[in-house]
Amino acid sequence: MRIPFHKELRIGGYMFKQKLLGRKRYPLVLMLEPLFRCNLACVGCGKIDYPDAILNRRMSAQECWDAAEECGAPMVAIPGGEPLIHKEIGEIVRGLVARKKFVSLCTNALLLEKKLDLFEPSPYLFFSVHLDGLKDHHDKAVSQAGVFDRAVSAIKAAKARGFAVNVNATIFDGHEAADIAKYLDFCKELDVGVSISPGYAYERAPDQQHFLNRQKTKKLFRDVFALGKGKKWNFLHSGLFLDFLAGNQDYECTPWGMPARNIFGWQKPCYLLGEGYAKTFTELMETTDWDSYGTGKYEKCANCMAHCGYEPTAALDAVKNPMRAIWLALKGVRTSGPMAPEIDLSKQRPAQYVFAEQVQKKLSEIRRDEAVGAAAKKKAPTAA
Ligand code: SF4
Ligand code: SF4
Repeated sequence: MRIPFHKELRIGGYMFKQKLLGRKRYPLVLMLEPLFRCNLACVGCGKIDYPDAILNRRMSAQECWDAAEECGAPMVAIPGGEPLIHKEIGEIVRGLVARKKFVSLCTNALLLEKKLDLFEPSPYLFFSVHLDGLKDHHDKAVSQAGVFDRAVSAIKAAKARGFAVNVNATIFDGHEAADIAKYLDFCKELDVGVSISPGYAYERAPDQQHFLNRQKTKKLFRDVFALGKGKKWNFLHSGLFLDFLAGNQDYECTPWGMPARNIFGWQKPCYLLGEGYAKTFTELMETTDWDSYGTGKYEKCANCMAHCGYEPTAALDAVKNPMRAIWLALKGVRTSGPMAPEIDLSKQRPAQYVFAEQVQKKLSEIRRDEAVGAAAKKKAPTAA
């Protein structure tokens, strides 16, 4: 598992400090979404189904830096939308790197080659290219032919310029274990680290048929990892998270480990679920009813095994039980035998549907801001 040593050291030190300070909940990665607009329309995406007025909104560079400082997490992931569409993206990244944040800029890579000049290689900057599988699979997942080739070309170009490049893959039902294994072989040849996660069942995604449930996820990952024995694939995850994906850990979600900030504010409770927004990070941490989210507690969390909820759980477990993590690193992920007990869903609270209300609220705010802006412009004295 190839996480750069300097990064591992900083994050380990940060977690140790939080432990010494006795903090029960703290963030590891800020999920910063400066815009929702994208230049693709993937069938499994639940992030881009907004009216134009919302898709046209951007967080300013200052808002992005303020969010990183307010949150204090050592890592900042910038998903979207497509962050490279944002006109200030170079400036945003420069400001975060200057603040010594480890920045993972997630991109579908369509604009990457063209925009490489906006960035400088740094031990703090990583491009994370969206690549869900090999050519046929990826082009189908993103609903556009040729995207795989452009992404691979951009990865090679970025690496040739000295940038650190990884890929991120979302796994859906129907993706065969053997194909995923071939994809992981390909990533090893390409010399890129891989972040992998089962797709979250977004209520706004166009394709609702191919989300994995937890049982299928565990079986699929066991099959994949069995095919990878001895291959040394370059996963960017902790061993315990991979062990969880293979059904060997009974983890509960820790959504506060990867808080999300976007144009609506601080999203409750996590990057995947928008059930309300807080104005500040402190308000998010203090007013979210954390215990009412997670598998077994809330219907919309029933099938979730996504990294943004469970990777922090695995990281916290590694700090609490270092011997468990060391033993796993020596033995590898178990791919047979009994699985950890599945979480009981019988007491979960039913789903609430708040999307339309939130969109309406945001649209009203946008209209009000526009009206105030127009009135101010009218009042301003014109130059003689
Ligand atoms: S999954 Fe990523 S690349 Fe695809 S439409 Fe959504 S934001 Fe864009
Ligand atoms: S289980 Fe956790 S990460 Fe997954 S949707 Fe629910 S709160 Fe978010």
